Amino acid sequence: MEKSEIIKNINTLRKEKNAIILSHFYQDGDIQDIADFIGDSLALAQWAAKTTADIIVLCGVHFMGETAKIICPEKRVFIPDIKAGCSLADSCAVEEFQQFIDEHPDYTVVSYINTSAAIKALSDIIVTSANAAKIIASLPEDEKIIFVPDKNLGDYVNKQTGKNMLLWNGACHVHQQFSIERILELKQQYPDALLLTHPECPANLREISDHVGSTSSMLKFSKNSDKKQFIVATEAGILHQMKKENPDKKFIPAPPKDSANTCNECVFMRMNTLEKLYLCLKNETPEIFIDEETRLKAVRPIKKMLEISSKYGL
Ligand code: SF4
Repeated sequence: MEKSEIIKNINTLRKEKNAIILSHFYQDGDIQDIADFIGDSLALAQWAAKTTADIIVLCGVHFMGETAKIICPEKRVFIPDIKAGCSLADSCAVEEFQQFIDEHPDYTVVSYINTSAAIKALSDIIVTSANAAKIIASLPEDEKIIFVPDKNLGDYVNKQTGKNMLLWNGACHVHQQFSIERILELKQQYPDALLLTHPECPANLREISDHVGSTSSMLKFSKNSDKKQFIVATEAGILHQMKKENPDKKFIPAPPKDSANTCNECVFMRMNTLEKLYLCLKNETPEIFIDEETRLKAVRPIKKMLEISSKYGL
């Protein structure tokens, strides 16, 4: 089917079914362009919490669909490809994590939103990269904290807040793989360019960056900056919005260690396509299901995050 036909069909189906399409910044440009709302994990969760649609199609990875379902149990939630997982979320198996918690009974469990529903159900508070430092800084000074699963984001928050959280040893295959050497070469090639880096990247990359922040924070920074060139160290999908919002500026994807590639893409995010989005709306599958006991446990730490975020205007 032609792309224009797929787009026409998606538009018809979403009206007929009172469906909303939410897209993460890491999706293909075609999906971002057709979505009702585009955002980072925090914004997608906030949007899911307030939508009046009957159906949510979450164009992102599995844990994002789960988060929407946890928040909106009365709605049907679909993702275009059920196999779209997340290497970071997968780095935290529930049995191992339960054991880790049992070994540290007096610790508060703070989990990044990039975790399965089962891990969220074992957590006290959920955070995203957009609000992690502020939420964790708001906890009492002497509170002992476990942070899971991203060791790089955890290290970044420890440095930002002066906390000494115990970190799970997980990492994202996209953000772990940027090449410092190739980025330094790019900086020589574009001496005026600012380096924007996601906090899921390792410390040696964050330390040479001009701005470290979530995808929404990178977008805001690049829009407000009077500089014209930016090297962007996160999943390359974000460049679509950056270019749309700033047509007069140049955005250069930071290269990965694999010298065959000029940018770093998440294999899981890229499993979703416009055609799969159309089929998902048409056939109402694949759907996200979560057992009610897990959902009830997982919704508490997410609600806590949304409450603290709204208190601090995040
Ligand atoms: S970019 Fe990394 S953290 Fe994000 S979905 Fe892909 S594997 Fe997970």
